[in-house]
This record gives sequence, C-alpha cells and structure tokens, in this order.
Amino acid sequence: MVRESEIREGEQAVEMPGTDDAGLVFIGRIRTPWTSRLEAPRQGRPDGPVCRLEIFEPWVPALKGIDLYEKLEVIYWLHLSRRDLVLQSPKNNKSTRGTFSLRSPVRPNPLGTSIVRLVGIEGATVLVRGLDCLDGTPLVDLKPDRCDFTPLAPPQAGDFETG
Ligand code: SAM
Repeated sequence: MVRESEIREGEQAVEMPGTDDAGLVFIGRIRTPWTSRLEAPRQGRPDGPVCRLEIFEPWVPALKGIDLYEKLEVIYWLHLSRRDLVLQSPKNNKSTRGTFSLRSPVRPNPLGTSIVRLVGIEGATVLVRGLDCLDGTPLVDLKPDRCDFTPLAPPQAGDFETG
C-alpha cells in the first residue's frame, strides 16, 4: 500500500540525527510518466515505459562506453520519502517489519535501485526501460549491471607505446 507521509498503526519513527555523514552529488534527473506515488509501479518491469535519464554537466563525458552494456544499474534518491521509520506496516494492517527487511522507499537514506534495459542514448540523455520512480527523481549514479560486467583485460605489452 502506498503512503504519502502518514504514520500507520504499529509503526515506529525515530528522531533523525542532526548531521549528515556524507554529501551526495546528484548527477542528473529522471523523467518518467509517473507524477504520483499511487501511479508508480512497486518495482520496474523490463517491458515498462521508456524513461529518460538526463545527465547534468560536468558528468556528461562519464557516459562514454555505456553503450557497451544492455543492462544498467540505476541508483536514485527517493526524494519525497520520509526517513525516520524503523518499523513499518507495508499493508497498513498493524503488522510491522523492520525497515531493513523491506524494499520500501521509506528508509534513513532513501536510495532506490533498479536494473534497467538500455534503449538508446540521445546526447546527454540515456533512454531506459525498467524504472519505478516519480518524474523528477534525482539521479545518484549509473553503473553496468553486475552480471554484464567483465573486468578489463590486464595491460598488454605495447598498449602504451606512442611511436
Ligand atoms: N526499485 C527501487 C528499489 O527496490 O530500491 C525502489 C522501490 S520502491 C518500493 C518504489 C516506490 O517508491 C514507488 O512505487 C513509489 O511509491 C515510490 N517512489 C517512487 N519515486 C519516489 C520518489 N521520488 N520519492 C518517494 N517515493 C517514491
């Protein structure tokens, strides 16, 4: 069941620490068809709509080589989530689970991850299928899917010859 920011029966909130342990840099913005949490899918699907990852400068050159991969891992900041619940009632039925046993967007650091299919690249915009986040969600990182990742071969003799 989707929530806005309400606390449900049986849930437990804590006081958020006043300081941050790390500063994130948003590398872009995600464009999707969904403007409300009621509409967004719980998890993305490989046959879901094409969504756009708009990469900000100065990070655009970091896209070089991304076209080598069919699947990418997208990491994003679920910016509308509350962050202070340690016990949650996903079905709003008084039964609770700990936040770290759920993939709920409500968590101390509301990071979402999805494995997506690369559809295309248009300049500084990456087109993908398989997302579940709201339009305007900040983009934190983009990586090749672990399954697709082949370590680079070790350097060979002659790799660095200039003449
Ligand atoms: N796939 C990610 C994961 O597993 O880490 C996110 C899963 S989370 C269950 C997806 C839900 O988060 C959506 O159905 C929507 O209700 C909510 N959501 C999507 N974008 C959000 C945003 N920017 N801020 C807060 N909640 C969001």
